[in-house]
Amino acid sequence: MSRTTPPRPVDVTAVFPQLAPLVRTATRLHPRPGSPTPHDSSVGGPLLWPADEPWPHCDGPHVWDQVNAPLSPEDVRLQRRIQAAVASRPHGIPETARYTPEEQATNERINAGHPWPVGPIAMLPVAQLYGRDVPLLRPPGRFGADLLQVLWCPFDHPAHPRTALFWRSVAAVTDVLYTPPEPPAVQFPGYLPEPCLLEPEQVTEYPHVMELSTELQQQLGDWSTWQTAGAAVDSYYAPAPQELYTDKLSIAPGWKAGGWTRWGLTDPVPRVCSACGTEAEPLLTIATTEWGAGTDNWAPEEDQANPTATLPGYPPANYTMIDLARGYDLQLHVCPASPDHPHIELIQ
Ligand SMILES: [Zn+2]
Ligand SMILES: [Zn+2]
Repeated sequence: MSRTTPPRPVDVTAVFPQLAPLVRTATRLHPRPGSPTPHDSSVGGPLLWPADEPWPHCDGPHVWDQVNAPLSPEDVRLQRRIQAAVASRPHGIPETARYTPEEQATNERINAGHPWPVGPIAMLPVAQLYGRDVPLLRPPGRFGADLLQVLWCPFDHPAHPRTALFWRSVAAVTDVLYTPPEPPAVQFPGYLPEPCLLEPEQVTEYPHVMELSTELQQQLGDWSTWQTAGAAVDSYYAPAPQELYTDKLSIAPGWKAGGWTRWGLTDPVPRVCSACGTEAEPLLTIATTEWGAGTDNWAPEEDQANPTATLPGYPPANYTMIDLARGYDLQLHVCPASPDHPHIELIQ
């Protein structure tokens, strides 16, 4: 099944021609639960990892927060199966009555937690993107590669998981590692991605409003400009037309490759390579939700046509079951000069 972003309600470059040179193409990934193999692009799926290459581990530090009990990946999966079973039962009875005694006992055991792990921690597959599925994905520099693999350590470093990026050539992987090590535990259930297949789709993006010139920001805030352009715009936005631009016209929500940086937690800050000073570029957005309040107009037509199946997890549209910093996104930026320069992790 493909996923189709509905047409934007306004051609924003017709109203503000100054935006036209700033257009970028982003690839929305549209992760949905499935059974990916190492030969698929995926979120939380098995990687095409060479059998003769050591699996990445994180040496820490992993500082016990004294509050949260980590869970084993197997227990997180078991708990999700129980939650899915409970959600499928009639809703006319209190939620606690929808658990079987066995499920209640299992949940109690799981919630007691797993001991805080010691020593290096095996990293978890988070995303695997084949160049054939995301053609605009280009490794930094002139380095030839057609596969990007992203793993993370499922413990806070210090406020979100630590990521590691690997670029490789698919043709160079002859023997695949089919049973990689798993971490003994994850700090939070939301740090274990649910296996998802992807339906990549290219969309058009424009910069976040705060990355535009002051003059253009003022124009975007002038309702009469929107009106004189004859655009069929929703008068709901008349008191603050920049919000129309932010919600519906500039940056797609959810998982995506490339495009523009999404801001929200902070004002824009420079993203400069620590090795060479070059401006780093958005590579991959690891999102908590695919859309939310204000951005639900980005929900694909196929999902809007089937609303009962659209909103798993909490918060809603959280198909990957990832939860970062209570609902935010982790955006990875890379230096265009070299794949060896450190990447930048940005929570927004
Ligand atoms: Zn770690
Ligand atoms: Zn650099």
